[in-house]
Amino acid sequence: MNNNKIIEEIRKLSDLLSLYQNAYYLQTNPLISDLEYDRLFDRLLFLEKGNPEFVLPDSPSRRVGSDFSQDIPEVLHSIPVLSLDKGYSVESIRDWMDKTISKAGSELSFIVEEKIDGVSIVLYYKKGILNLAATRGNGSVGNDITANVRTIKSVPLRLTEDVDIVARGEIFLPLAEFEKLNSLQEVPFANPRNLTAGTLRRKKSIDVAAVPLEIFIYEGFMDNTEMNHVEILTFLKKLGFKVSNSIGVFSSSKSLTPSLNSGNKESNSLWFRGDFKSLSGYVKKHTKERENLPYEIDGLVIKVNEIDVRESLGFTGHHPRWAIAYKFESPEGTTVIKEIDVQVGRTGRITPVGRVEPVLIGGSTISNVTLHNQEYINILELAIGDTVSVSKRGDVIPAVERIVDKNEDNIPVWKMPERCPSCKQDLEIKGAHLFCVNSECPDQVKGKIFFFLGRNQMDVEGFGPETADYLIEQGFIKTIPDLYSFDYTRLEGLPGFGSKKIKLISNGIKKSLDQPYSRILPSLGIPELGKKAVELLIISGLRDVDDLIKIAAEKDVDKLVSIKGIGERTAEIIINEFSSTIILDLIKDLKTAGLKFEEKEILKQDMFPQIFSDQIWCITGSFENYKPRSLAENEIVKRGGKTTSTVTGNTTHLLAGESAGSKLVKAKSLGTKIITEEKFMEILNNNE
Ligand SMILES: [Zn+2]
Repeated sequence: MNNNKIIEEIRKLSDLLSLYQNAYYLQTNPLISDLEYDRLFDRLLFLEKGNPEFVLPDSPSRRVGSDFSQDIPEVLHSIPVLSLDKGYSVESIRDWMDKTISKAGSELSFIVEEKIDGVSIVLYYKKGILNLAATRGNGSVGNDITANVRTIKSVPLRLTEDVDIVARGEIFLPLAEFEKLNSLQEVPFANPRNLTAGTLRRKKSIDVAAVPLEIFIYEGFMDNTEMNHVEILTFLKKLGFKVSNSIGVFSSSKSLTPSLNSGNKESNSLWFRGDFKSLSGYVKKHTKERENLPYEIDGLVIKVNEIDVRESLGFTGHHPRWAIAYKFESPEGTTVIKEIDVQVGRTGRITPVGRVEPVLIGGSTISNVTLHNQEYINILELAIGDTVSVSKRGDVIPAVERIVDKNEDNIPVWKMPERCPSCKQDLEIKGAHLFCVNSECPDQVKGKIFFFLGRNQMDVEGFGPETADYLIEQGFIKTIPDLYSFDYTRLEGLPGFGSKKIKLISNGIKKSLDQPYSRILPSLGIPELGKKAVELLIISGLRDVDDLIKIAAEKDVDKLVSIKGIGERTAEIIINEFSSTIILDLIKDLKTAGLKFEEKEILKQDMFPQIFSDQIWCITGSFENYKPRSLAENEIVKRGGKTTSTVTGNTTHLLAGESAGSKLVKAKSLGTKIITEEKFMEILNNNE
C-alpha cells in the first residue's frame, strides 16, 4: 500500500470511529454494533502502529491512553480562569441580580446551571482539534493534562466545525462508579471529586482511561462573537460538547432570550424558563432533587446571559462580576489547618494528621482530620495555613473535602518527613504508605502495648490509656511482658497512685492471666491474625501455639491454606511471623508470665452458647457475610450444631442465601425450617 492510500484510510477510519464514538458517548445512541466498531478500531490501530508518522492529532485511538509515563508540565492560560463569588440564600442571589441589573443599566436575563462538584478543566481547540487541556491551577497557570483528558470519552477530540474555541467544563465521576472504584482503593477518597483529581494526576494516561470519568461543558470563549450565553451553550452542543440539560433561563421579558423562543427548540427543549419570581421555586426544587442525581453537585451557578454586559461588568480581583455561585448547605465546616503531625501506628505505619481550629460539624467538635498519606496531600495540594472544608461522612474520621482558600504566606504543599518522628530511623515506602521498620521504635511499642490492653483484646481492668501512657513514659513498662513482671507496689506514693488504684491495676493484670488462648493470640497484634482467623485455626485443630511454630519452621503453607477461611496471604504472614525471633521471644516471655498459649478443649463451651445442639443444618446459596460458605458452617458447629450437604428428613434447618435452588424447594416440601442470612445473624447476635 502506498503512503497516500494509508493516509487516506487512516483519515477515513478516524472520521468514522470519531462519529461512532460521539454518537455513543455524547448522545448515547450507538450507530453500529460493538463487533463492527471493534473491527474498524483494530484496523486503525494496525495502520497507526505501522505508520506512526500518519497518526492524526484527534485520532480516536488516543482515547485508550498510553502507558507512557509523563510529568505534568505547567501552562499559561490565555483566558482568566477565575472562581466564583458565593451566596448562601435565595435572597442574597436576588440581591446580587438586582445590583447587577442596576450596574448594567439595562434589563438582563440570567442562566442557572448546576454547580458540578468535580475538577475544573479548560479545553483549548485550534481549528476544531483538541490542542490542550489544562487544570485551573491558580487561575493563570494550570497543569497540562491533555493526554489524560483525551481518554475521557465525552471530551470531543475534534469538533464538528473548524473553530478556535476555549471551553470550560467540569470533569466528574458518576456516584455509582465512585462507590465501585473507591471500595478498591487502598486509601479511600472522601468524595468523588478527590478521586477524580487523583485520577487526572496519574502519570500514565492508560490508567486514566480505565476510570469512567465524564464531563459537562458550561462556558465557551471565542473571539468576536455576538452570541449570548444561551446561544453559546446551544452552539457548544452543536460542536459536539456535552452540555447539561439541567439549565434554567430567567428573564423579565421574553424578548431577551429569543433563541429559546424560536429555532433550536430541539436541543434545549429540556431547559426551564421563567421570570424572576419563579427563581426561588427553581432553586428549592433543585436543592431537594440533588439527592437523586447520578453525580454530586454542591450548588447552582447564576450567570448573566448577555456576553457584552459581562465584558462591561468585568472582574473583581478574584471573581467575575457577572456570575455567582449559590452554595447548598452541607454537613461541612470551614476551618484552618494549624499543624500537621505525623503518627506512628503499632504496625509502624506513618499517618499524617491535620490539627485544625476546632469546628462544630453535625453536633460534634472536630479538631483533627485524617490525611492518610503523601499522595492524598498532593491531590489536595494542602499546606499548613490553608483554609479547608471538613466533613464527617457516616461515622468515619473527619476528612478534608477541599481547600477553600490557600494560605497567604506561600507555604508550600506539606511534605512527609524522611525519618520516623519517634525513633529517627529512615522511613521505608510500602505500597501507598511510609513505614518505620524499627521493631524497637518507641511509638510502635507503645501502640502495641495499648492494643494489647484494649477492651477488644485482653481487656485489662483498671489499666486505662492514661495509666499505660504514664508507665511507659516513666520507663517502668517497655514491652508487653513487662506488664506481668513489673512490681506495681513501686508506684506507691507517686502522684495519682493510691493503694486502691495500685490494687486495681495488679488485680486487672492478674485476672488477665485467665484469658483464653483464643483471646491472647489476637491481642499480640500480628497482622491478619485477628479474632476470626485465630478462631478458624483453633477449630481446625491447631490448638497450641507450638503447632503454628512448627508449621512456620517447616514453611508448610499448604497445611494453612487447607483450613477453611485461611487464604494464601494470611498463611504467608503466619509463617513469617512465627519464624521471627521477636515474636518467638515475646511468646516465650508471656508463657513464663503465666499466659496460656493453648486451647485445651476444642472450644470451651462457655465461649459460645450451644444454641444449635441437636440441630442438623444444611447451607445453600451465596451469602454476603459468609464467604466462603464454610464460615457459616463454623458458626453452626461451634455452637453445637451439625451440618449436612443434602436436605433430608433429618435436616432441621436450611440456611438459604441468595439464589438458593433445588435444596430450597426440597426443604419447603419437607417442611424444614428455612432461615435467611439476616435471620441467622440475628440469632447469633441475640445469643452472643
Ligand atoms: Zn520509628
